[in-house]
Amino acid sequence: MRLSRSVISTMLLCMVLAVVLAACAPKQMTYAYTTDTAWENINTENSGFANYNDFISEVDECFEQIGTFIYGDDWHDIFRERYGDEKVFFYFDKTISRAVSNKHVVLNQFFFENRIAPIAHEIAHIVLTSKNDTLREGFASFCQDEFGKNHAISNFGLDVHALARYYLTPAHAKIIENIGHCEWPEFGQVSMGDFRPAVYRTSHSFVNYLIETYGTDKFLELYKTIKTDADYAAVYGKEIAEIKADWLTFLQEYERPLTKDEIHNQLKQVFSHANMSEEEATRLAEAYMLID
Ligand SMILES: [Zn+2]
Repeated sequence: MRLSRSVISTMLLCMVLAVVLAACAPKQMTYAYTTDTAWENINTENSGFANYNDFISEVDECFEQIGTFIYGDDWHDIFRERYGDEKVFFYFDKTISRAVSNKHVVLNQFFFENRIAPIAHEIAHIVLTSKNDTLREGFASFCQDEFGKNHAISNFGLDVHALARYYLTPAHAKIIENIGHCEWPEFGQVSMGDFRPAVYRTSHSFVNYLIETYGTDKFLELYKTIKTDADYAAVYGKEIAEIKADWLTFLQEYERPLTKDEIHNQLKQVFSHANMSEEEATRLAEAYMLID
């Protein structure tokens, strides 16, 4: 078969266009890796991930979204400057999920296998951490809700202001007193013990409150620059004491308390795909003080 000249030139033009478009398309960055050894013990059945590549592409997407949210268009340059060609190593263990260093993230295997691992939360720590404990954990939890593909164990996707209201009690007065402050020497201790849910949820509520009340730009300005409590006034024009008093009033007057039914329905939804009986789910929820 002979092709006419015009058909051949149209085909050539299309091929050239395809090459040009491919060259102009933004390069897909890969931020993370795991190893066959780390992956081989994972039961993927209820994890939401069909395979290793599936997991890495979700991690990449989280890095992309959170990095761009914090740094805007400079994000790729910032990541390359910090890591060069090195990527962040993800692995799994029976321990709690955490960013072990800015190059290593461990995810709790049980949570990962049941699609409740805080992947976006840990990525937020890697992208930009903070010495202010409340802002660091609150912002990472905000990122899990905003950019994560699944709800995490800290609030199961429930409204954190409604959850935080449960902690406005004398038993949690010390935590509420420390929320937001740059100096919180007992943070490591209280955040690992029985008060862990209270610390995470009130931190999450405080950060959401700042973002909802004063906007994302101001929050990121504070997050990026904070060294002492005086920096609140520099960014917001209000001392930390006044901001906290406003936040507590907001919580006390919060009009959407969570009912037991709402909590149960949310848990059912979160665990609907999980390899876990209703009893196990209830026990887990009790451990995280979601139901009494
Ligand atoms: Zn964290």
